Amino acid sequence: MNKTTTDRAWNFDGSTENDGILRPLCLQVESHFSLPPKRLWRYFATSDDSHMQTWMGLGEHYRGFHIPFSGRSVLPHYLLHGFFHPLQSGMLYEDSIAFDNLIYIRQSACSDLPVGFVTAYAHELQHFVQYGRTPKLWDVNRNLYHSIGVFEPNMIPSEIPSERDADITAKRIAEQVCGVEATNQFAEKQIQSMENCGASVQKARWVFFRNVPSATHYDLVRETLPFVDKYQGRIDFGVDTKQPEWWTGNLKL
Ligand SMILES: [Zn+2]
Repeated sequence: MNKTTTDRAWNFDGSTENDGILRPLCLQVESHFSLPPKRLWRYFATSDDSHMQTWMGLGEHYRGFHIPFSGRSVLPHYLLHGFFHPLQSGMLYEDSIAFDNLIYIRQSACSDLPVGFVTAYAHELQHFVQYGRTPKLWDVNRNLYHSIGVFEPNMIPSEIPSERDADITAKRIAEQVCGVEATNQFAEKQIQSMENCGASVQKARWVFFRNVPSATHYDLVRETLPFVDKYQGRIDFGVDTKQPEWWTGNLKL
């Protein structure tokens, strides 16, 4: 990765203050991960963009998101363009692509220091790891996330295995970076604030986060297989899940 790409891999939306505070926290979080060899672009927002809730359907309470290059078309222009190097004449299209994945952290999570921010970043970083290690498994979970509501109207999105995996990882990392007590206090605060605004789905997510032991070993393949069996033929998983060991190998782009 050349220097320009390395510099552009961290976008603090013009805030040198956030650069000084958030970057060291992110590096601490990243030191607990074995990251895949993909070019990650990190964007830390300093204002709220309604595009995320309207066009991307992320809802009122989202804290951040991870998206690979292939999903970029849903992004607002400034994020879409950030995936690319400035165009130069004679440049091949493949060479203009600067990043493979984006992690975006919402302004409210960036200022929720330190546990709220660490939790949000570690959660999205685990999605990046899922994508990097087993992209087909990530994609099946993504399709489950978006389609299961039709069949299970009472199921909360955070019960999807990739979300459970990201929440358990985020809790473990938050405990290591910020301490067990601070992490627990943060979870209690989230539960209370979701209860206060009547957001029962979000409340259930944070109750799970508070209650799950952070040392839980979560096997994403094993946890995903029952969903695939149950919804085979009813949900388009985007992957041929009838093949043996369908979760191995790369996505067809
Ligand atoms: Zn997630």
